[in-house]
Amino acid sequence: MPAFIGHVDADSFYVSAERVRLPHLHRMPVGVLGNHGACIIAKSYEMKAFGVTTGMPIWEALPICPDGIYIKRDFTWYETLSRKMLAVVKSISPLVEYYSVDEMFFSAEHPSHDLARKLQAKVLSAVGVPVSVGIARTKILAKLASDHHKPLGCFVIGDNETRLALLHDLPVTEITGIARRSAARLASHGITTCEQFVQADRRLIRRILTKRGEDLWWELNGDSVIPIAPTRPRNKFIARGGSLGRATNDPDRLRAFVVRNTERLVEALHFYQLGCDQLILDLSFKPSGGSVSKVNLLATAWRFEEICLAALRLLEQGWASQMVHYMHVIAGGLRDRRHAQRSLFSTADRREEVIDRLKHTVNESFGRFILRSAATLPLADVYGDPANAYDICDIYGKSCF
Ligand SMILES: [Mg+2]
Repeated sequence: MPAFIGHVDADSFYVSAERVRLPHLHRMPVGVLGNHGACIIAKSYEMKAFGVTTGMPIWEALPICPDGIYIKRDFTWYETLSRKMLAVVKSISPLVEYYSVDEMFFSAEHPSHDLARKLQAKVLSAVGVPVSVGIARTKILAKLASDHHKPLGCFVIGDNETRLALLHDLPVTEITGIARRSAARLASHGITTCEQFVQADRRLIRRILTKRGEDLWWELNGDSVIPIAPTRPRNKFIARGGSLGRATNDPDRLRAFVVRNTERLVEALHFYQLGCDQLILDLSFKPSGGSVSKVNLLATAWRFEEICLAALRLLEQGWASQMVHYMHVIAGGLRDRRHAQRSLFSTADRREEVIDRLKHTVNESFGRFILRSAATLPLADVYGDPANAYDICDIYGKSCF
C-alpha cells in the first residue's frame, strides 16, 4: 500500500475537451449533448449558472439559456485527451489506476501540495484541460478531497484535523458508492453526514451496508482497504447497448439494434480474448416496464453468428410489440478463450471463423463498421451519424463502466 493516494479529476471534462480544440468557447456557456442530441450530458460552469443541469433535455435548457452553445459529444476526441492525461499522471507516479475517462488514482509518497499543484499545471499545459487534485491516506478520502474543491481545486488531507473538518457537514451521499437507497437506510439510523458515518459503530455500518459499506467506513477513517488497481479487474460481464433514440416497436429496427449491439459485443470479446457461456438481453419499454431474458449457451461462444442467433432468439422471448427505448446485449459467464472447451453442440465452423477474421481485419484497417451485417441496414440514420461510431464503453482499459 502506498503511504498516500492521489485522485485527479478533470473539471467539466467534455466541455473542457471541446474548448481544447475550439478555444473561442472559453468563458461561454457550453453544453455537450448525448448522441441523440436530446439531453445535456455535461455543461460548463457558465451554463450551470443559468440553472441548466446534467440530464436536462435540450427543450428545457434552451428557454433558460438561449445563448448557450450546444455541441454533440465526440468520444473519439475525449479518449484521445483522456490517454494524454493518463500519460501525464504516469509521468509523476509509478502506480496509476485508469478509473474512468477523466479520473485517475495514483500513489504519492507524501501529502504534498506541491505535487498536487505540479500535476495540475502539467495536465493543463500538456493536455489543455483543467483538473482538480486530492491527496489523502485512502482512495475514498482522496476522491472526496478533489470533488470538494472544484474547479481547479487542490486539497490535501495530511492529518486528522483536516480529515474531520472535511467530513463534518458533508452529506453521506457525497461518498462514492452511497446512493439514495443506502443513504435512506443510513438515515433511518440517524446517520446523514460523513462525520456521523465515521463515528458510527463499524459493525452497525456492516449490518446496514454489508462489507462494501464497512470498506467505506475504514477508508473514511483513514485506513486504506481499497488498493490502487493498475490493471483492469477481470470482467464479470460485458454489455453493449444504450438508448435507441426514438422509442420503436418496428421489428426490423429492433432486430437491427440487436445485431448492431452484438457486433460491438463481439468486438469487445475479441479485444479481451474472452468467450461467454451466457447471454442476456435487457430491454426497457416505454412508457414503463421492461424485460430481461437469459440463455445459457451450449458451449463457450465468441463468434458473431452464434451469439447473434442466440440474441435474436432472446428478442423473440422478451418482446411482444411494446415500444422499446433502451437495449443492452450482455455477455456473462466469461472465460479465457484459450481454455474454453468446444462442445459437440457448438455450431461454430471454419467458415464463421474466416468471416469474423475478415470483418475484423477490414474494420481495423478501414474504419469501424465499414463491414457490418446486412441485418443492420434499417439503421441507416444511426450509422450515418458519426456521433454513433463510438461510445464511452468502447474505451478499453478503464477500471469502471
Ligand atoms: Mg470530472
